[in-house]
Amino acid sequence: MFVAKDCAKMNTNPLGIRWKGFFFFLITFVLLFSFGFSRQGMSIAQPLLHQGNYLLETWRFRDGKTVEGPRSIVYHTSSQERQALLVSKEAEQVLRTFEKRYHFRPEQPVPIFLFSDRRSLSDHFSWNKSQNATGIYFSGSIYLLSPEAWNETFPSAAHAPGKWARLFHERGPLYHEIAHLYLDQTTRGNYPVWYTEAFAQWVEYQELGYEWVIPANRLAGQPLYTFDDLTKRFNQLPNQALAYRQSFLFLRSMAEKHSESSLDNLHTRLSEGAPFSNAWRQVFGESPKESYKQWQHQVK
Ligand SMILES: [Zn+2]
Repeated sequence: MFVAKDCAKMNTNPLGIRWKGFFFFLITFVLLFSFGFSRQGMSIAQPLLHQGNYLLETWRFRDGKTVEGPRSIVYHTSSQERQALLVSKEAEQVLRTFEKRYHFRPEQPVPIFLFSDRRSLSDHFSWNKSQNATGIYFSGSIYLLSPEAWNETFPSAAHAPGKWARLFHERGPLYHEIAHLYLDQTTRGNYPVWYTEAFAQWVEYQELGYEWVIPANRLAGQPLYTFDDLTKRFNQLPNQALAYRQSFLFLRSMAEKHSESSLDNLHTRLSEGAPFSNAWRQVFGESPKESYKQWQHQVK
């Protein structure tokens, strides 16, 4: 059974959540009014928003347990003790990879909240519709659905911890979600949605060789989304699998054509506050729209 490593677009659509959305809307509104609706205002507001989310979540998980590591802290229920230990081990390894590869080490251990079933995850975010997400990145925190809930062939963490850990490494969404965290914290949210989804898939591809390919997102035989579709209405596009796939393949072609360090250069410029199009042009010598048109021409 195919399982999408979708992050449910939570990183960009906090207002889709009812009361939690309202809470963040209120804080963001107050902070942005205090600092101005500017790039600088956002960069000041973001750490406060992340901290606010963390405090809120630790209060909501106050009856649970934790597994603490140097780089992460896994919140879980008492029935998830073994899974939480294995998740913690994997999270530490993934974060070490980011430290080595991207020189990124979060200032505080990354909070990871573990959910045993899809309903409790949906209830937590007050989702009305069914979601396929196995992992979510939202405001500095990571939310994970226990693998047993999205793959019935997963072994018992108690009886086969080695196999469980290996499958979670290969199929779990931690590289994807931590890529979102890295990009968000490094650039203070200075990127479009299509880019963070492309980059998260690029990391998965680099580290695991994983690509999200299903019949619905094959490029051949169907019209492709335009650059404006991806930049202006990514979350509203009906074929999300295709939007993800196009974003990934476009970014992959750029990284392969210009060397992977070009992405590091792009992130450095974004972290300095350059608008995305300007940063892209500085690194690749053309606008992102021009790059995209060339890519579309190649894949036709
Ligand atoms: Zn994602």
